[in-house]
Amino acid sequence: MAKIAINIATGSLQQAEMIVGIDLGTTNSLVAIIHPETKKPIALKEHNSSSLVPSVIHFDELGNITVGEEAKKFLETDPANTIFSAKRLMGKSYNDIKQNANFFTYKVIDDDTESLVKVQVGSKFYSPIELSSFILKELKARAEHILKTPVTKAVITVPAYFNDAQRQATRDAGKLAGLDVLRIVNEPTAASLAYGLGLAADEEKTIAVYDLGGGTFDISILKITNGIFEVLSTNGDTYLGGDDFDRVIVEHWMTEFGITEDELHLNKELSQGLRLRAEEAKKYLSSNESFSVDFNGDNLSITKEKFESLIQSLIDKTLQCCVNAVKDSKVAISEIETVVMVGGSTRIPAVKKAVSDFFNQPVHDEVNPDEVVALGAAIQADILAGNNKDFLLLDITPLSLGIETMGGLMDVLIPRNSKIPTKVGRQYTTQKDGQGSMRISVFQGERDLVKDNRRLAEFNLTSIPGMPAGFPKVEVSFLINADGILVIKAKELRSGVEQSIEVKPQYGLTDEDVEKMLLESITHAKDDIAIRAIVEAKTEGEQILETTEKFLTKNSHIVSQPEMIATAQAMQNLQLALTMDDKDLIHSKIEELNEITRPFAERAMDAAVSGALKGKTV
Ligand code: AMP
Repeated sequence: MAKIAINIATGSLQQAEMIVGIDLGTTNSLVAIIHPETKKPIALKEHNSSSLVPSVIHFDELGNITVGEEAKKFLETDPANTIFSAKRLMGKSYNDIKQNANFFTYKVIDDDTESLVKVQVGSKFYSPIELSSFILKELKARAEHILKTPVTKAVITVPAYFNDAQRQATRDAGKLAGLDVLRIVNEPTAASLAYGLGLAADEEKTIAVYDLGGGTFDISILKITNGIFEVLSTNGDTYLGGDDFDRVIVEHWMTEFGITEDELHLNKELSQGLRLRAEEAKKYLSSNESFSVDFNGDNLSITKEKFESLIQSLIDKTLQCCVNAVKDSKVAISEIETVVMVGGSTRIPAVKKAVSDFFNQPVHDEVNPDEVVALGAAIQADILAGNNKDFLLLDITPLSLGIETMGGLMDVLIPRNSKIPTKVGRQYTTQKDGQGSMRISVFQGERDLVKDNRRLAEFNLTSIPGMPAGFPKVEVSFLINADGILVIKAKELRSGVEQSIEVKPQYGLTDEDVEKMLLESITHAKDDIAIRAIVEAKTEGEQILETTEKFLTKNSHIVSQPEMIATAQAMQNLQLALTMDDKDLIHSKIEELNEITRPFAERAMDAAVSGALKGKTV
């Protein structure tokens, strides 16, 4: 058996193999590495093809999955089975995305608005984590094909505004794709690294990263101090990007040729044809004065001047976000020393000029804006691999730390490879009415079920005043100080009761133990995530059964006899499904129950609202 060494500083397994940097984007994704000879970052691509892999997944009737350019072709012809923008769903509940629900042309399940969303394709249900893992798997396979070596370790980038749940979801997607995710890095940080920023010791700098991609816009203000990146502020618009520029050109042509919205909507060939030509025109106008093409005998044309006037208001919108970001960062515009451009849409000269005028300085655009984030991720990967000796490695946690939640699942609060000192807090609640105590069990390790991890400590938060289930707010915080001591605190926020405990996570743990735990987590990743999905489905099913029962007891007067019978039947079906380890079956039974209860849940809601209105004096 091959001997594998472990780097205690990074907690990573060290084999003589490449660690890749991955930009997992909303529209496109790509992989980069540090070239072993030139030591320069390069984006991986097959001969004569682009380094960009569209973040699109298509499922055919037989369940075959295609990812990338091939899948993109199905966007208009088979929208229900073609998933794009899965990144927008990462770590989100339906409540988080319902305002933009129309954006998704595939089925996003909306029954349990509080828990994480799922996507339905045929009879299967996929979590955004699984969907992202399909993209990562494709990237991994491509990288392996090009490099002719196994690729099992990666640094993956995420937007600076991603919260804890979204970062964890990205880690899980990596794990599911068979990747050991050494670190999650902020996209603006990666872009800065690609420009060599933050690599020199004693460097102190405030920078702005302007990222305008295909569908999203982000502006981040960062402060670099001795190689540490601090995000001072972020702002942006999650539904503004190059696609909107394409859209204004399409609208311009629609007016010119008298095409109505309805016609466009009904004629997929026309809409796709115009959209593709609009994108072509937009790109062409980044380096030419006018564009014209023959389209079914008509001449589609547009000048750069016209295009710029059409997108001015969109550019202004991004500048308003910059104003907000600068304000929130509490630094003056004049203190921002460097501006970095990221995303394909920053190739547009009018965008460059507007940003340069706004920050009153030339902008950095020398690195390919589509690749800059992945290139930076590769630089970060190289630093973690210990290849870049000039760069100081900070103290970090070699294994993840978390607590046990419903169904014996591990909920990670501090992921491995986090810099220390660090502090993280998360809120939990009770499962039962009047629950007076909550057990906090602290675990260390990478597995999804706590039984496979190392138990570090356990205590009971007692004296929680009697409240209905779901009402108490228990904040659990983990603080690791500079000496590596972990302080765990639990506090019920409504009543103020609190309790805490201290442990030394590394106590009694040898390097071999850490190595073994990491190896096992990778070997079992697939099974672990499948079990997690089942446990989560069961928990959701149980909760829905409980709420439905409570609801029926309280509102029996507004439910008709046939509805009652149908509900009882659906509840029984769900109950039976819960005894089986089949997450798709459970989700479909949850869906069926929700379809039946939705009408009378709405009636109850209307009754409550009109009741409230009656009581109001106007
Ligand atoms: P990204 O999400 O960073 O990959 O950016 C993709 C977006 O950049 C798409 O909307 C592309 O149409 C746009 N894009 C790519 N090249 C150009 C170009 N030369 N001029 C204008 N927009 C471009």
